[in-house]
Amino acid sequence: MDKGTTAVGYTNKHQQTVVRKTDEPGNDHLQRVYVLKCAVCGHEYGANGSDIWQRRCPKHDKGAPGLAYSL
Ligand SMILES: [Zn+2]
Repeated sequence: MDKGTTAVGYTNKHQQTVVRKTDEPGNDHLQRVYVLKCAVCGHEYGANGSDIWQRRCPKHDKGAPGLAYSL
């Protein structure tokens, strides 16, 4: 896996930027939840680290629902 796609500040091709990593387990094998922020509508949501590179915003771009994480 390319570690660059989970770095804070990384932005994927759908304009989703990594805000921070959480300690929450993701729903994919050995994954953690990362908080992403959409540059288009400002929505913040959780995503598996392995999905960041291809993630679409669940609010305005028909992406999968965000994963739960605690603050
Ligand atoms: Zn959005």
